[in-house]
Amino acid sequence: GAMRPEGAEAVAVVLANFKGGVGKTTTAMSVAQGLSLRGHRVLAVDCDPQGSLTTLFGILPDTEVEDEQTILPLCVGAETSLRSAIRPSYWSGVDLVAAAPLLFGAEFSLPSRQQTEDDFEFWNVLNVGLDEVRDEYDVIVIDTPPSLSYVTINALMAANGLLMPLPPNALDFASASQFWRLFSDLAGQLVEQRGVGKEFDFIRVLLTRVDSSDSTTTVVRDWIGQAYEGKVMPVEIPKTAAAASAAAEFGTIYDVGKYDGNARTYKRAAEAYEKVTELVEQLIQATWLRK
Ligand code: ADP
Ligand code: MG
Repeated sequence: GAMRPEGAEAVAVVLANFKGGVGKTTTAMSVAQGLSLRGHRVLAVDCDPQGSLTTLFGILPDTEVEDEQTILPLCVGAETSLRSAIRPSYWSGVDLVAAAPLLFGAEFSLPSRQQTEDDFEFWNVLNVGLDEVRDEYDVIVIDTPPSLSYVTINALMAANGLLMPLPPNALDFASASQFWRLFSDLAGQLVEQRGVGKEFDFIRVLLTRVDSSDSTTTVVRDWIGQAYEGKVMPVEIPKTAAAASAAAEFGTIYDVGKYDGNARTYKRAAEAYEKVTELVEQLIQATWLRK
């Protein structure tokens, strides 16, 4: 296996895309669980105030998450450590920093911490906060809201690798291009003002919710291949009833048995995510070896 070399720190992978409904949270959960099944200690960080990832872990963001159990204290600059926000999850090997609706407040508190015009420390709050636990995990999986919010920027800045789920349809393709442009503009601004750039160790696009019977899929798949040349994962996640019903029941594709009625489609999504997990593990290992 690809175990973390001594002295190496956790590699952080962020799931991000401008849009909702593209499979960010489903992929975050599947990869977090998959990596733990391959022997890694995983910290999952939910940065979406809607708390979808938290919900998939069986925790209700509205009633079962205190503000202190989220990244909110970090965002408002409270004298707390991220460690105190971490909780174990039902899935052994995966710990969680949950999200709650009040995390929306971070969109106001983060920019208000900017002291001067060229002070961009508030972009780095999560990055710095995670430093405390990077030697305690092998992988940190960060789920983000469907927008280029301040919290999303923090998640991107904190990550070594970016995984962008993208269904092969025209509108999602167009909004993904906007996401890239906006983020590179922001990163460019940072380079200009601070002389530091954001370079990911790896960037991959993952085709999700792929409906091969849809004739436009082939066309848009080609566009994506050209636009993100060399960055598209060689595995696609099929659109399956099991992936959808798993979420509807607050379960995941790895909750074997629960979806026996759907065994065939369950298997297709699960096998695809197993391959994705293997590829992510390879990228993580390459990152460890480069450091
Ligand atoms: P995001 O986090 O980008 O908003 P989600 O992972 O929450 O996206 O997925 C959005 C919806 O699509 C959810 O209801 C989810 O269950 C469903 N879904 C995700 N992946 C698939 C898939 N491969 N096949 C069918 N439905 C899917
Ligand atoms: Mg989501």
